Amino acid sequence: MTERISVFDMLKIGVGPSSSHTLGPWRAAMRWLKELKEQGEFNQINRVKIELFGSLSLTGKGHATDIAILLGLLGEDPVTTDTSLIEEKINQIKTAKKLSLLGENLIGFNEKTDLIFAKKRLPFHANGLRFTAFNEDNFIENIYYSIGGGFVVAEGEDVTKTQKILKYPCDMPADLLVHCEKHDLSIAEMVMENEKAWRTSTEIKEGIMRIWHTMEECVYKGCNTGGVLPGGLNVRRRAAVMNKKLLGESTYNNSAEWIAKIKKHRFQFETVLKWVSCFALAVNEENAALGRVVTAPTNGSAGVIPAVLMYYFCFRNKKATNRHIIRFLLVAGEIGTFFKKRATISAAMGGCQAEIGVSSAMAAAGLTEVMGGSPAQCLMAAEIAMEHHLGLTCDPVAGLVQVPCIERNSMGAIKAITACNIALDSDPKEAKVTLDNVIDTMWQTAKDMKTKYKETSKGGLAVNITVNVVEC
Ligand code: SF4
Repeated sequence: MTERISVFDMLKIGVGPSSSHTLGPWRAAMRWLKELKEQGEFNQINRVKIELFGSLSLTGKGHATDIAILLGLLGEDPVTTDTSLIEEKINQIKTAKKLSLLGENLIGFNEKTDLIFAKKRLPFHANGLRFTAFNEDNFIENIYYSIGGGFVVAEGEDVTKTQKILKYPCDMPADLLVHCEKHDLSIAEMVMENEKAWRTSTEIKEGIMRIWHTMEECVYKGCNTGGVLPGGLNVRRRAAVMNKKLLGESTYNNSAEWIAKIKKHRFQFETVLKWVSCFALAVNEENAALGRVVTAPTNGSAGVIPAVLMYYFCFRNKKATNRHIIRFLLVAGEIGTFFKKRATISAAMGGCQAEIGVSSAMAAAGLTEVMGGSPAQCLMAAEIAMEHHLGLTCDPVAGLVQVPCIERNSMGAIKAITACNIALDSDPKEAKVTLDNVIDTMWQTAKDMKTKYKETSKGGLAVNITVNVVEC
């Protein structure tokens, strides 16, 4: 039996720029201190040391892993923390050389000696973290792994031991089709039933709408914020420029007014295409600026699903309701779980096919569902979207989630829309490749891919373009 994963694990509200390098380490730090508290060891801590291994140590600086860990140690929640205060909180720790663990236990902290980018790799996964807590006369050591999409496992932990019993368990996409056909259900209806193992149907609907509103707000903010992204690469934000060109000199006070303005126009194909790119760029510019995003399934690929959903909402079905949004996201989330269970959603394990490829497959299936496609067509759309991302490497320039990451989200969104269109006009029975096949192929390709193309910034664009990074 494979792991049971909720769609809420695939779509998580968090902070940029990376799910495996920011959100995961953040959660690992919080989890570690919570566990020490449960064990009665927390109050005695007088020093902590954190070591980062593998990809975390190679690209952790550019991915804000150090910042995320400090915020986690402070007890800041990535879902609710005020992102505008992050810089101030980090500067305080650096200046005072003191840190208040979970806001309760003030200890001395020297980043140079207590937060170490160790170059080695731990055996289980490319993203390892070792936390050490010292007290008067002893120390406790714990190892965690950030395995992609914000998921964290402790060394030796077996997550399948404590899992939920689902009404329609699916180990692979083919199982999903069997349940849908046998019980005459759409994928969204089937997933809704399964989600009830974790929460009530009201909680599911409210939770999904919260995710959508976070996505919507993120697109809006990104489309209305100019300037240069942090990190020293001097990447200029483009979504706001595009938004202005597309809407003209328009006034609006919030996302609802802005969306209403977009919907009012009758845009030509080429302009709609530009909007899709603009939505995706907006989210990933926000992500790169440490803004609030929805990990879907990762932060680097957070723009694909919102861009495709905005496309549906603004251009394909202007009368779309909450029901459509919920169906879209339930299906997208469910598709993501298969990649997590059977392959990987971690770029450090599988390159960018595991991020943008998976998000594109998720978005393609979600769009096909709300466009009236059958369950088989939804899976076909997901398959097509991933098929044309196979082999995509991860080579972030200067270790920042900016180049090629931001534009790559636009490409993933466009491919998702095309995959949906092809699937809606096809008979899935005639398809030569199934979603099961493509997931297996993606995992084989991941295993064959050289390490330098797996979020190390030691290959591809990361080494072939000359950059002048100005530390800031
Ligand atoms: S290249 Fe792709 S996988 Fe790598 S950091 Fe960028 S978006 Fe993520």
